[in-house]
Amino acid sequence: MKKIVLATKNSDKVKEMLLVLKNLPLEILSLADFENLPDAVEDGLTFEENALIKAKFFREQTGLACLADDSGLEVDALGGLPGVHSARFAGWHADDLTNNQKLLDELKKINIKESAAAYRCALAFVDTDGTEFLTAGKIDGKIKIVAKGNGGFGYDPYFYLDDERTMAQLPVDEKNKISHRGAALKEMFLKLKERFL
Ligand code: IMP
Repeated sequence: MKKIVLATKNSDKVKEMLLVLKNLPLEILSLADFENLPDAVEDGLTFEENALIKAKFFREQTGLACLADDSGLEVDALGGLPGVHSARFAGWHADDLTNNQKLLDELKKINIKESAAAYRCALAFVDTDGTEFLTAGKIDGKIKIVAKGNGGFGYDPYFYLDDERTMAQLPVDEKNKISHRGAALKEMFLKLKERFL
């Protein structure tokens, strides 16, 4: 069976991706199945550029077809930040906790308790023969300074939907139905299905 590698170390992203891709005739691996892989240098200016950088880099590193995700949060009141810097908003050793604290600090500095925001996701697939597919998704919502829920990951406890639930209050399958990653995954699923089914 054809093998593809999900080019991410984020187990929550892997969970969301597997839920959609599991029905394809593919053996799906992730970076956790490989040892001592270096990090890709994500110096693109857009989510699309970074997804492609990661997919190409890990295709080279593993010798297998790769599917990479690059995603992040854009907050209107912060001029679109953290954007492509979402994973490292609080610095090199950032994690979800410190990134969320940095988000709250930045909003506090400008005296803002809520702001329109969006999550964006780009997915890049690069096959061993060089074939590339790129898809994207977006979800609009609001960032509020009060956290709710303990599902999801990253900024999810602060990302509010129209019904006042946060993304962290949704089960994975429900998050996938509406999320930026879910939308990009649906489009990618169709492209992969056409290629491999
Ligand atoms: P990447 O691994 O460089 O793509 O960074 C993505 C970062 O954006 C994550 O570490 C999170 O901080 C944030 N992010 C992306 N997608 C989501 C999501 O679905 N929920 C919460 N945070 C997300």
